[in-house]
Amino acid sequence: MSNKPKLTIDGLLAELATLAKISEAEPPVVTRVVFSDADLRARAYVKSLCVEAGLAVHEDAIGNTFARWQGSDGELAPVGTGSHIDAIPNAGLYDGCVGVLGGLEAIRVLKKLGFRPRRSIELVIFTAEEPTRFGIGCLGSRMMARVLSPEQALALRDKEGRGIEKLRTQCGFEGTLESVELPAGRFHQFVEMHIEQGPLLEQEGIDIGLVTAIAAPASLRVVIEGEGGHAGGKLMPGRKDALAAAAELILALEEAAKSSGAIDTVATVGVCDVFPGAVNSIPSRVRLETDIRDIDGARRDRVIDALKTACTDVASRRGVAIRIDVVNADPPATCDPAILAAMETSATEAGRSYRRMVSRAYHDSLFMARIAPVAMLFIPCRGGVSHRPDEYASPEWIGGGVHVLARTLARLAS
Ligand SMILES: [Zn+2]
Repeated sequence: MSNKPKLTIDGLLAELATLAKISEAEPPVVTRVVFSDADLRARAYVKSLCVEAGLAVHEDAIGNTFARWQGSDGELAPVGTGSHIDAIPNAGLYDGCVGVLGGLEAIRVLKKLGFRPRRSIELVIFTAEEPTRFGIGCLGSRMMARVLSPEQALALRDKEGRGIEKLRTQCGFEGTLESVELPAGRFHQFVEMHIEQGPLLEQEGIDIGLVTAIAAPASLRVVIEGEGGHAGGKLMPGRKDALAAAAELILALEEAAKSSGAIDTVATVGVCDVFPGAVNSIPSRVRLETDIRDIDGARRDRVIDALKTACTDVASRRGVAIRIDVVNADPPATCDPAILAAMETSATEAGRSYRRMVSRAYHDSLFMARIAPVAMLFIPCRGGVSHRPDEYASPEWIGGGVHVLARTLARLAS
């Protein structure tokens, strides 16, 4: 790999644009929910590109798709790359897709240059990275790492009450859900390219982010049951106002995150559902949905504990009942130093600027880290905007990412 790969990414850009048009919404809006007609058409399109590139494609029982470039030593575990092609409602065209089609482009570039991998290189398209349909993110990679068991997966329902079993088989994904689990060692290493979904790279004019850690997300649901009543008739003494109790909890959570001692701790209450929601009625029930993240799992858990303590305290002081459910609490992932070193050398060789950084959004790599050494390669996105139709990554940024990814894959597979 002494010569700089000649990259014309016009083909890749055209493929990204074609994929974006496979949407449940009018372009430029991309909406592609897992197991929808658009999802199936998008899968068919990407698979056809993989076959065209000479890759051997297979799918598992939940629809995770593997496209393999066979290495010269078939005994060795492959190097993996890839991401997702599902998209939340009203999304853009780069989230996930850059990692899938960009990964494919990296493979095609290496083929064009006559490179022969010793280890196989396998492109992975994960099922349902987005939580839109089943309320849980990274369905495919969670099941690969068995962070989500087949029983737990079977219990999931979409908002129409449909379960995974019927939907996946309707889509043609056969086999037992048990077979989705992959052993540690199935992949030698795994690298995911993704847009940053934050503003740092663009602001600093840097081409490539080398992700050293992926923050640990936790999501907790808090339901407060108080006592309703007429806003005029019921006087202040003895009120059990569920929203006033919720207000204390929101502030307690904010304080716990702010005082964790680290800038990487973040906590958010993004949903506050008030019942009955009438101006002249005392709120009797409130549901809060909270999101708590950190790159340090123990520190994140201390914030969760602080919220639980506040719940106990507020419940007894205000005479309300508070239930707290952990929706998910995943551990953080630390990226593999060997892959980071390979990416760093590759970026230098490719003449691309880079910096190390943390991923505050989670990705399939968070779960792949349970079964393989992983790292992520970020490219800039304009204004840090993502999950919106105006999400944008320039051809130059994408080309830089593909270039560095191609060199990294070559290095890891040699
Ligand atoms: Zn994504």
